[in-house]
Order: sequence, then structure tokens, then C-alpha cells
Amino acid sequence: MNLASLTIADIQKGLRLKQFSAVELTEEALKFAAAENPKTNAYLHFCQERALRAAQGVDEKLARKEDPGPLAGVPVAVKDVIVTKGVRTTCASKLLASYIPPYDATAVIRVEQAGGVILGKTNCDEFAMGSSNENSAFGPVRNPVALDRVPGGSSGGSAAAVVQGTAVVALGSDTGGSIRQPAAFCGCVGVTPTYGRVSRYGLVAFASSLDHIGPMARNVTDAAILLKVIAGRDERDATSAFAPVADYPALLEGDVRGTKIGIPKEYFQGLAAEIGDPIQRAIDQFARLGCELVDVSLPHTEYAIATYYIICTAEASSNLARYDGVRYTTRAPGVTTLTDMYRQTRGEGFGAECKRRIMLGTYVLSHGYYDAYYLKAQKVRTLLTQDFRQAFEKVDALITPVSPFPAFRLGEKLSDPWQMYLSDIYTITGSLAGIPCMSVPCGWTADGLPVGMQILARHFEEAAMLRLARAYERATCES
Ligand code: GLN
Repeated sequence: MNLASLTIADIQKGLRLKQFSAVELTEEALKFAAAENPKTNAYLHFCQERALRAAQGVDEKLARKEDPGPLAGVPVAVKDVIVTKGVRTTCASKLLASYIPPYDATAVIRVEQAGGVILGKTNCDEFAMGSSNENSAFGPVRNPVALDRVPGGSSGGSAAAVVQGTAVVALGSDTGGSIRQPAAFCGCVGVTPTYGRVSRYGLVAFASSLDHIGPMARNVTDAAILLKVIAGRDERDATSAFAPVADYPALLEGDVRGTKIGIPKEYFQGLAAEIGDPIQRAIDQFARLGCELVDVSLPHTEYAIATYYIICTAEASSNLARYDGVRYTTRAPGVTTLTDMYRQTRGEGFGAECKRRIMLGTYVLSHGYYDAYYLKAQKVRTLLTQDFRQAFEKVDALITPVSPFPAFRLGEKLSDPWQMYLSDIYTITGSLAGIPCMSVPCGWTADGLPVGMQILARHFEEAAMLRLARAYERATCES
């Protein structure tokens, strides 16, 4: 059994034919993951007992001839910003180094109800703030494809685990690109669903109006299966949508002939050939599949980074206020006054990027600057959303790059936050508009680094988006 290439369908078949039990598979997967993990630092910790308990449950259901669920026995990695009852959840922050949540995130509950086996929690940028995974308090993650390079961020650990083969699928979170960009850097599929499609209950808040949970997988089908499991209304998240969940895996194989695909010109201006060429070849492939290509414009794109970094920092400054030394966290030792407790706990606990964002966010929300920055950013967000709405009157989907460059070297952009923020230039627009978007592997640079293309679709049209991705995958990969 080659764990690194197993698909969900392989596992279902193996269980059905009794080639292995869920417990055997889990034991094997835990052993493999523990042995492989030092190469990348993708997992922060494993939850062996919980995994074996879940696997046992699957085997019992199989023995009783009950349906064990669509994820039966599947090894799943969960980004460490998603809470797990009784299992440490650190958000890759020193502040939460010993935090053990008393409840499970809804997505986690749904994964286990579907028979999924959570092996452990994956590394990420602290509180999901970053594009390289280097902002983790517990060391960076290395890209499994090129160990001297970053895996992207912030869900770098989840992407690395899936590509390394230490998980079959993973949950990531995306606020401005944190699922899609690491998926592109490591060479896997990453899906950011429509805002509200997947419950955020139990996702530690970074920027609440932008946060999403979504699947990461080695192929489109597995991502679709996981998405179906976690999607849907949840009473515990008021922003989760009532819209019915489509049967994504069943709708994957449809014909895409006649689909109108928009190519937004703003996303290709000045794009380096090492990224632009593979994307162009992917676009040509869609033309051969019978799709109609249409040039479109999203005219407010140039304001996206400024808009995103005002809104996300504003929301982050408010969300991170709860880490005060009273709740959740370890308190700085030896403090005598309330102010000192706040100051020292937060001063010692947060890393540089979180502090930068708390300061920026507090500034843009402060009296006198609110109108100039925060309010204006909200208005531009509406304009960016309208750009998409207008484009989607003409086309069914959009194709763009995910990132302007491939995985960069560890340390290369660390000293320049502005360069780091530019990583998100193509992903944050979709996040601001709340539309579904995904990253699909579409080739390699001359240096052998993965390149991803982004597919974006109308609100709640994940099925159409996934179908396009699958059509491309079918046309270009063996499986
Ligand atoms: N890289 C972006 C940021 O640093 C996006 C992060 C995310 O999507 N969580 O904010």
C-alpha cells in the first residue's frame, strides 16, 4: 500500500475487499506520517488515540454492515486553527501553545461523522496570517517538492501533508488565499468555497467576514468528496448559508463544452512567463475541451491588496483582542497590574506579523481614520464584488494565476512584508467577493516547481467550478 498515492476511492475499495481494516490503515498512516514529518514539519502534533478511536468506529460499522460514510477510514489532516476537542489547538502561536479546546469545530464533527480519521493538526502561519508558513511560532514548513523552499501559507502544513502523502486530504482555512496559494506552491488541489458554504464554527477567527474552511486534496474528486461532507448550514454559525448542498462528486464528470470562461486581463499584465506559460497552456486545453474563451476586465483589481489589508487587519485587531491573559492563554508570569498583564502576555505571546496587523487594524478603525481607511475599503470591496458580478453576466467561470511566482526560498521574503503581501494579489479578490475559487495544478516551472491555476465561479456554483477542474484533470492526467 502506497500511502502517498492513495485516493479516497482506493481506501473505500480496500476496506470493502477487506485488504485492510480502518485500524490497520490508520496505524500505518500514523507510522508513515511520524517518520516523514521531520522532513517538512507539516504536522505540529498527532492525535493518535483519537485517530484510532475513529478508525475503530469505522471497522465496527463495517462489521455490522452499516454504511461507514464517504470518508470511511480516510486519513485527514486538520489545520491547527480549527479546534479539536481535547486535542491541542495552537494556531501556530506561542500564546496558545497549551490550549486544549473543550469543543470540536463543525467541520471536524462532520469529517468524523463521515468516517474520516483525523491524524493530527497541521502547521501554519500564526493565526493564519502569512503567505509562506514562516510566521509559525513552531518553525517553518518546508515544501515537500523542494525542501529549501516555502510551501506557501498560511495552510502550508495541510498542503505539504497532502503532497507528501502523510494525509490523503486535509482541511485548510483561507482568508485571502491561504488554501489556494499553498496548494499552488506544493502542487495539490485547494478549494475555497463560497463564503458561508462551510460553517466557521470552531475556526479560530482571523478576519470573520473573509474566513473560510475548505478542502485540500491530491485530486479534484477527493476535494469534492470532502467539500460535500463539510458543507451546509450550521445553526452554530449565523453566517453559514441555507442554500442546499449539491452532490459535488456526482456532478463532477459532466461535459464542459460550451462553458464560457472569462480571462481577466488585469491578472496577466506583467505576469512572469514561468507562471504565465503553463496557465496559457491550461487555457488552451479548455478551448480544446469546447469551452468558449472570453476576454473580460475586473477594473478595480489594482485596489485589492490595499482593501484586503485594511479590512483583514481591522477585523484581526478586534478578533485577537480576546487573547488577554485571562482566557485561553498562558499568562505572562510575575505581572502585578491589569495593564501589565495585557501588555506582557500579548507582547511575549504574539509574533511580529500578528503585532503588525493588530497595530494596523487598530489604526484604521480609530476615530479620525475610520472614514478614510476602513469605510473606504468597505466601499471598494463592494466595487470589487461588482466587478465579478458584471463579469459573471458574460461568463460562467474565470481563470487566472494563483500566485505571481512559484514557491520561493525560505527566508527570501521574510524581511519585506510588502513583498510577502504581494503573493496574494490574485487570490484576495475572490475572497473579498466571497465567491468560490480553487487552485488546480497545471504544470511546472523550468526549475521543477508546481504552478497552479485559479478557477473562480459564481456564488454557490462550486459544482460548476469543480466540474471544470475535473475536466482539465481528466484531459491532462492519467487518472
Ligand atoms: N496571505 C494572506 C494573509 O497573510 C492570506 C492569509 C489567509 O488566507 N489566511 O493575510
